Amino acid sequence: MESRRVRVRFAPSPTGPLHMGGVRTALFNYLFAKKHGGDFILRIEDTDQTRYVHGAEEYIIKSLKWCNLFFDEGVDCGGNYGPYRQSDRKSIYKQYAAQLIENGWAYYAFDTPEELDIIRKKSESEGNHNWQYDVHSRKLMRNSITLGSVETQNLLSQNSQYVIRFKFPENEIIKAIDLIRGEVVVNSNTLDDKVLFKSDGMPTYHLANVVDDYLMKISHVIRGEEWLPSLPLHVMLYRAFEWDNVMPQFAHLPLLLKPDGKGKLSKRDGDRLGFPVFPLEWKSPEGEISSGYKESGYFAESFVNMLALLGWNAGTEQEIFSMDELIEIFTLERVGKSGSKFDPEKAKWFNHQYLKIKSGEELAKLYSPLLKEKNINAPVEKVVAICNLVKDRAVFVKDLWQHSYFFFQKPDSYDDKVVKKRWDNNIPPTLEKVTKVINEIKDFNPESIKHELHAFMEENQLNMGQVMNCLRLVIVGGSLGPDIAEIICILGKHEVEERIKIGVEVIGEMVNG
Ligand code: GLU
Repeated sequence: MESRRVRVRFAPSPTGPLHMGGVRTALFNYLFAKKHGGDFILRIEDTDQTRYVHGAEEYIIKSLKWCNLFFDEGVDCGGNYGPYRQSDRKSIYKQYAAQLIENGWAYYAFDTPEELDIIRKKSESEGNHNWQYDVHSRKLMRNSITLGSVETQNLLSQNSQYVIRFKFPENEIIKAIDLIRGEVVVNSNTLDDKVLFKSDGMPTYHLANVVDDYLMKISHVIRGEEWLPSLPLHVMLYRAFEWDNVMPQFAHLPLLLKPDGKGKLSKRDGDRLGFPVFPLEWKSPEGEISSGYKESGYFAESFVNMLALLGWNAGTEQEIFSMDELIEIFTLERVGKSGSKFDPEKAKWFNHQYLKIKSGEELAKLYSPLLKEKNINAPVEKVVAICNLVKDRAVFVKDLWQHSYFFFQKPDSYDDKVVKKRWDNNIPPTLEKVTKVINEIKDFNPESIKHELHAFMEENQLNMGQVMNCLRLVIVGGSLGPDIAEIICILGKHEVEERIKIGVEVIGEMVNG
């Protein structure tokens, strides 16, 4: 078979903010397209006007940009197969619905919602909770099959409300191939004659989706598992239009599951368990705010890396991947069939990994707005050195503060427990001598500081508790922080001397009342 240009689309409906599961679908489409040198298209599926949410389209575009998922064609960047918003393509669909009617693949149905409701309820009262408009029941309904062409034309000319439904053939085995799940086989008798078009002139998802995939020359449809039940209908639509030879290949991605694995991950789980489910913060038209990964301090790279491994694996132990690496090794064959549990702790782990590998310079840039907010004006080299020193302890940039605040401000209190454990009347004279030792170090670096302090302890037969722990107590206010020689080196002789002096004074008052 002649090989086809790879063209994939991400086709969200603007019914609200983009869930992280949606971002993962976009990501897998992007990786697949880029791997094969193909096109990645953004199509907005907004045919269901009743579910349209103001601001959702902009949100989707912004979110995908934040994730570095860039489109080759789409609503915001144009392309040769536009328009890319289905409401702007409204005039296209009617002729396709009409074509299906003409060829006997669809029919007009005039049953009102009230009539359908009555039938459904009656059926329920008889114990059948799954009534559907199908090969059997359509024979008892008000449609162009039962009414005949004259009556149908009459109703149409009277502007009666109608829908156009797909006409499944009777008792036919429909086979469809899913690249992830293999063959899907169903009997047409079990399928619903789905509505394709409504008298308000709007197509439904199924018609618009298939027509657009055809017109946009989509080669692969990669989407969420919730669309798998629609696959037989879509395959039949390709047949009905005689487009079988250009039908895309389908791949349905496994669901993202709640952390405990029980059911689909929802916005409510995020609220309940305290993690975001949306890439960016979302403010609903009603003013309700939902948190976003970006605003919670996640790096886009780490968020994307984490998503890539939900449902796909490289087949190796490697977990950290750049986008380029992902593009190189991504295959649909390595996408699993079963749902993948989302683990919020693992999301943090990824962020920690990405933070750790950032340079001190990069982190200092990200950290500086926070310092500015706190009215701290520190030289860049100092902030860089601090970031290098404490980055191993932080998950988010905002955590840097709790691991480094003592570099920017003198202690405003001293840990009572440490004072009780370590302090006695010999400590002040010892620390006075330590000040001298420190001030006399010529080549001021962590190694020389450490070396001199140890030499001092040995000479004076003092232990770690008497020197190092007390020194830490007066310098940072407790027993926290990284290596004390590193802290001393960054603070500098003058600041260390001052802190020792103040510490001795204040702690002296604490101890002696
Ligand atoms: N508009 C559908 C959605 O919101 C797209 C499904 C598909 O990709 O075919 O998920």
